[in-house]
Amino acid sequence: MTSSTPAIVILGQGSLATARRIQQVYPAAQIHGLAGRVEGADCTYQEFGATLRELYQQATPIIALCAAGIVIRTLAPLLLEKGAEPAVLAVAEDGSAVVPLLGGLGGVNVMAREIAAGLQVAAAITTSGELRFGTCLLNPPSGYALADLELGKRFVSDLLAGHSVRIEGAAPWLDQAQLLEDPQAQRSIHVGSAERAASANELLIYPRSVAVAVSADVADLPSVIRAALQQANVAVQALACLVAADTEMASADMREAALELNVPLRFVTAQSDIGALARVAVPEAKIIEQNGLAIVVAEQPLDIAHIGRPRGRLAVIGLGPGAAELMVPAVKAELARATDVLGYETYVRMAGPFRDDQVQHCTDNREEMQRARHAFRLAAEGRSVIVVSSGDPGVFAMAAAVLEALHESDDPAWHRVDLEILPGVSASLATAAQAGAPLGHDFCVMSLSDNLKPWSIIEKRLDLAAQADLALAFYNPISRARPWQLGRALEIVAQHRTPQTPVVLGRDIGRPGQTLRTTTLGALTPDQVDMRTMVLIGSSTTCTFARAGGGEWVYTPRWYGEKPIS
Ligand code: SAH
Repeated sequence: MTSSTPAIVILGQGSLATARRIQQVYPAAQIHGLAGRVEGADCTYQEFGATLRELYQQATPIIALCAAGIVIRTLAPLLLEKGAEPAVLAVAEDGSAVVPLLGGLGGVNVMAREIAAGLQVAAAITTSGELRFGTCLLNPPSGYALADLELGKRFVSDLLAGHSVRIEGAAPWLDQAQLLEDPQAQRSIHVGSAERAASANELLIYPRSVAVAVSADVADLPSVIRAALQQANVAVQALACLVAADTEMASADMREAALELNVPLRFVTAQSDIGALARVAVPEAKIIEQNGLAIVVAEQPLDIAHIGRPRGRLAVIGLGPGAAELMVPAVKAELARATDVLGYETYVRMAGPFRDDQVQHCTDNREEMQRARHAFRLAAEGRSVIVVSSGDPGVFAMAAAVLEALHESDDPAWHRVDLEILPGVSASLATAAQAGAPLGHDFCVMSLSDNLKPWSIIEKRLDLAAQADLALAFYNPISRARPWQLGRALEIVAQHRTPQTPVVLGRDIGRPGQTLRTTTLGALTPDQVDMRTMVLIGSSTTCTFARAGGGEWVYTPRWYGEKPIS
């Protein structure tokens, strides 16, 4: 997935102030600080080289506050590979110099100028076309597409050699450019949506001014769309979006067609026929009906945000225990794209910081079903909604509530929402990892909360799980409203385990002030545990040994009974 929000990468504390000034230019950009060297960055990284290369490969624009040479050497191995080249800039730590390095077509010079303006210095622009014309002719603004990059490069070098040029069609962004214009010129910049043969004397730019209204009934949509555009003499590069009836929102064929054509999909209320659908989507444009499709050709690039609405999305995400390093990348990407974030206030805060355009809907921890329904209402409007859980959303958290709300609903708009559950590192796993491998063999996960299930069921499960010699992981072990349950649970377990059985208590694991304790079943009392604690109880084979540096390792061997000969 590509992302256009830049990452600001810093190596030392001295760069943080400059990084914050750059962040004012790009409020959504996160500051990545080297662990152990930078305090107060938005997130930390362990290794500079690996981090920079990963960002580059994800096509994330990079603003690195360090020597240009370091950035060049770090990315050098990747430069011969083909693929998207994001903008990469080096900025002097004190903000005195801004050097665009890579990504001429990714708008690096535009960024260099923006950052330089923010820092009140001059950008070190070295691109000759850019210097001469004041703009990169090969990087038209959004809403326009360059037909052919290689031909374009030749064209620009011709202009640099002194050839004059004429402009055909509307190219308002070139008004400021310093071009040698001549109505009689041999070379031209042509802007238009009609299909046109490539020519070395022409810089061909397509406005994305065409929408195609489609129906999922049509088989092999991409080919049919291409053929219809060709018949109508419209260039496929001029296609801005596909439009369909909202009743077809969940159609996989439609989604794949849009993906293949690399354009967004927009939805409007279902109409009597495809022509009417096109008219509702883009009023006052020319419509050509063909092969069951309707092609809408506008004069100007289409403003997609104002055509119908997108398919809404609802992602139920797990933040992991708390530390940013333990959050899966898919969740990070989801947080960046969300328009609305719902959840228990503590977790929403943990998921932040958010941009000003992202709406936070914080609710009390107990209002799960209302929160799930609220999420569907927002997503059905076309918004991109996140419901936040800590750990994993499927472990005593929001995923089941969200599915329950959907199961109960007969609103087709809710069922058409693009629903996805994104996993996280659950508290039992994060705690176990810090202790060693106490859950290294079969184990049983239980919530000791009797809010939503009868205590008798809990007792029965505890008894059977303990009897089955499973290692145990207790979530929600105790709370002010449930003071006695943990004591009773431990009594049941003690009927099947020796007092020497290792126990791990992890509190606020992965969060500031975390504590990890190892004790035994015999020594464990409920007052050592609170609602922010994870309780892991070993099986009959769980053992411990001293760790160099203090404390001990706890693990449950992979084998059972006699150790196998290895
Ligand atoms: N979905 C979460 C669990 C929510 S239930 C997950 O997968 O982790 C809440 C319980 O989880 C708490 O009462 C506590 O027992 C445990 N828990 C959650 N986060 C924790 C953390 N960082 N450290 C220790 N225990 C935690």
